[in-house]
Amino acid sequence: MTAGRYAPSPSGDLHFGNLRTALLAWLFARQSGREFVLRVEDIDSERSSPESAARQIEDLSALGLDFDPPVVYQSQRGDLYQAALDRLPVYECYCTRRDIREAAAAPHAQPGMYPGTCRNLTEEQRASRRSQLAAEGRLPSIRLRATADAYVVQDYYHGEVVGAVDNVVLKRGGNVNQAQAGDWAYNLAVVVDDGEQGVDQVVRGDDLLSSAPTQGYLARLLGYAEPQYVHVPLVVNAAGVRLAKRDGAVTLRDMGLEAAWPELVRSVGCAGAASTSELLETFDPAGLPPEAWVWEG
Ligand code: GLU
Repeated sequence: MTAGRYAPSPSGDLHFGNLRTALLAWLFARQSGREFVLRVEDIDSERSSPESAARQIEDLSALGLDFDPPVVYQSQRGDLYQAALDRLPVYECYCTRRDIREAAAAPHAQPGMYPGTCRNLTEEQRASRRSQLAAEGRLPSIRLRATADAYVVQDYYHGEVVGAVDNVVLKRGGNVNQAQAGDWAYNLAVVVDDGEQGVDQVVRGDDLLSSAPTQGYLARLLGYAEPQYVHVPLVVNAAGVRLAKRDGAVTLRDMGLEAAWPELVRSVGCAGAASTSELLETFDPAGLPPEAWVWEG
């Protein structure tokens, strides 16, 4: 099976920017004869809710986007993530966010990347850090022991993307007493799911472009075919900042379908299209404006 996907995090209603990305993902998949699957990315147990997922699914259906079953919930796929983790080179990380912030401020550190503090500890150092953490009620996180510094992926709009490979968190640590202890991490779940679901086309917002090389690298380590990436421009507010709930009436429920639809189709270069089937006929991926779409509300 070859498939495209939309993979929202159910932590609130989808806003205009999310809906546009979903529409583009659907168009890319359906125009290329692929299946289209919906994956609920609810691994963050603190921020996700089944009610939010249900509302998101309702909104996507209201737009006329159809999905091939089944809808997959990441919160139910821990066994798959564990099996993948067992096959990867990893190490325990004992850092707090603050430790990372401080180490990342050092002059030689690469911005946005794990500075490697826990990568080369000795067994004695690990034992001591582990018991220190246990005394604080914390669990170590598990990171990828990457052996490449950079990796290249192909993107429909961006061409060859060369990017740094990060020692990303695969399983979160957290506090033993809190609900989020041991949550699976986004980068592992997304790669395993795309691989297991036969997703060979990943259409998503270009805020995730810099994650693609690490994810492509992870996919290769796990033996999955690397998907074709299609990173699409985001929707921004009048100040050029990524659209968010605070920008006002931005969700489908706020705007109403009658107001949202014309702006959505205009934003993908198909002004006037009246239905999803008309969009399928007229949408031209090569004609999508390369710059962010400014939401006028
Ligand atoms: N769940 C992620 C989000 O809503 C998207 C992940 C992805 O498309 O790879 O931002």
